[in-house]
Amino acid sequence: MKRKRILLVNPWIEDFAAYDFWLKPVGLLYVGSFLKSLGIEVELIDLMNRYDPELSDYTKVPKDKFYGTGKFPHIEIEKPKILSFVPRKYKRYGMPEELFRKKLQKIKENGSIDAIFVTSTLTYWYPGYFDTINVLRQELDVPIVFGGFFVRNQPHIAKKSGAYIFTKTDLRFLPKFLNDLLGWNLQNSEKDWFLELSPAYELYERIGYVVLLTTLGCPYKCTYCIAHRNWERMKFKDPYRVLDEIEKFSELLKIQDIVFFDDAILIKWQKHLKVILSEIIARGLNKKIRFHLPNGIHAKLLNEEVANLLYEANFKTIKLGYETSGKLQLETGGKVRDEDVVRAAEILRSAGFTYKEVSAYIMINLPGQTEEDVKNAVDVCSSVGIDYSLNEFTPIVGTDIWIELVNKGLLKGTEDPLLLNNTILPYWWDNMRIEQIRRLKEYAQEKRRLYTRESL
Ligand code: SF4
Repeated sequence: MKRKRILLVNPWIEDFAAYDFWLKPVGLLYVGSFLKSLGIEVELIDLMNRYDPELSDYTKVPKDKFYGTGKFPHIEIEKPKILSFVPRKYKRYGMPEELFRKKLQKIKENGSIDAIFVTSTLTYWYPGYFDTINVLRQELDVPIVFGGFFVRNQPHIAKKSGAYIFTKTDLRFLPKFLNDLLGWNLQNSEKDWFLELSPAYELYERIGYVVLLTTLGCPYKCTYCIAHRNWERMKFKDPYRVLDEIEKFSELLKIQDIVFFDDAILIKWQKHLKVILSEIIARGLNKKIRFHLPNGIHAKLLNEEVANLLYEANFKTIKLGYETSGKLQLETGGKVRDEDVVRAAEILRSAGFTYKEVSAYIMINLPGQTEEDVKNAVDVCSSVGIDYSLNEFTPIVGTDIWIELVNKGLLKGTEDPLLLNNTILPYWWDNMRIEQIRRLKEYAQEKRRLYTRESL
């Protein structure tokens, strides 16, 4: 019987800026595992893997910054017409096209591929997805299936890529989808991809870190966030399966950094993360692996027990979801108050974490937010000895805040996703302007400089 073979591709990013802050195509790797469970051979090309062994033969690869993160190699490319008014350079980040084509040729030489799956994440990165699909179409004459967040969020635009689009999050729809597309005869599968499978990291030859998910979903309903809409209810992976994943992939790929990208990892603490951390310590994994929580944990759910176990388990990056001070805290969902951040920061610092290891996400340019709200949030962080990162707001289509902006006539609702890129919103949208954003960033930088000087 002819073997079935599918190529997975993590596409290019095209944007004004991009940084490898532990970006891995975890969803695509779960798709890889699911396909394998159906008896299909799977290969992977990750155009965004800075650790690809062939990469340095084709481009200068920037050095790592911290714990496996770093700048992507990039080239300047022409801006999409709709962005021509933005006075910044537009770039393609990731693997050079020449190497990408060479890898595709090699895959062709090793036998025929039946289909290609391309994933997607941020909606305003779609030119990079489309350019990736164009190269794939030129090199391999097989159906291309396009999935991921962008495709689910903007299917009408995704269709313009000419690929077949897959808009489900439940992979149990895949066998029928593939049978219809390729004339296969795959059996239905009842496997829950998240609870029963692990992301297929074994498809990598070399990688700098591993990103894992121990839960899916979030019980909070922040108005600017789509996480609670992505998954109907929260799912918790069995802690011992998570530990198997940590042990298996750290040994197989010889990595030192494991990153948890959960949206709400502290929910059901006693039965979930507490078990994982206690086992990390009991098995001595904390002696050889550094762990990171870069996705904004809930300050309200933090206590001494959590902080002490995180410290003992060798966590090196703790991000708190703060977002803003002021009345918007409550109006956007009430997940956090200043006093929660203060309390969490004090507990974490007492547990032994340093200024650099703990930081809070602060959003700028939220509708209705004042400059004072941002400055106060920066001041709160500085006063309790934690760092912060300022992130510009993006109105994600389908979130409560986006619906409200459309209803109020502050967005049309039909904007090209490229215009909703947080980097360029201040150039055209009537909220905070570019000078205000710059001022706030300078304020934050100055505060940091003062704090670090005083604490030396
Ligand atoms: S911002 Fe965080 S807490 Fe709020 S819904 Fe999203 S993931 Fe949950």
